[in-house]
Amino acid sequence: MPAYSINWSYDGDKGPEKWGQICSDFEIAQSGKKQSPIDIRSEDVKPLEGNPLETSYSRIPYQVKRVENSVHLFPQEMNQTLTFQNEVYRLVAFHAHIPSEHLLDSVAYPIEWHFVHENAKGEKLVLGAFMDVGTTVSIDMTDLRRVFPEVFQDFSIERELSLDITDFLPEEKVYFTYEGSLTTPPTVEGIRWIVLKNRQTIGHVAHRALEKVIGGTNRPVQPLNGRSIQFHE
Ligand SMILES: [Zn+2]
Repeated sequence: MPAYSINWSYDGDKGPEKWGQICSDFEIAQSGKKQSPIDIRSEDVKPLEGNPLETSYSRIPYQVKRVENSVHLFPQEMNQTLTFQNEVYRLVAFHAHIPSEHLLDSVAYPIEWHFVHENAKGEKLVLGAFMDVGTTVSIDMTDLRRVFPEVFQDFSIERELSLDITDFLPEEKVYFTYEGSLTTPPTVEGIRWIVLKNRQTIGHVAHRALEKVIGGTNRPVQPLNGRSIQFHE
């Protein structure tokens, strides 16, 4: 796909309600029965035993650039891994949505980060992490709030940042997991979702700066269609 052609958006003629009609590749947005995001409601959740999340993240360089309607960060080393149910998944990219796409008991959070991972078979797992906005800040966003507007204005601008994604995640890895889809076109299914319940907090200045660039990038929640959601404490 040419970098400059964006044929979908978050409102109007090419907004989320129309994604399934834009082209045949995007049809699944309308016909799919396992779409994301969803409203994670307590009454639909069943406990999951065992299966702790094991993450192995460290400080590495990331390439930051605009992709379609957002800003994505690409690890420059392929050694950032998450192990789930004996499968090792490598981090391939990450980005954020403002406000959150997933809801917890119908509540949205200010930000949701998506850490996209892939195993050796090419199966995708997305780790979702919400963030709050407040005065007790638990992550320094100075570099990100400077770089996001720079790269967003022009597809040809790229920046590099050194980051440890551990900083984006709560210490306690309490999570919900279910099978869904990507949340941007083409919203392909067969994606393992792990959504963390706890949250880090960023400051108001950082939130406003990111919101100016990627505010309104949340696809509305999709029907659960009988899927099971598991909760690991
Ligand atoms: Zn996403």
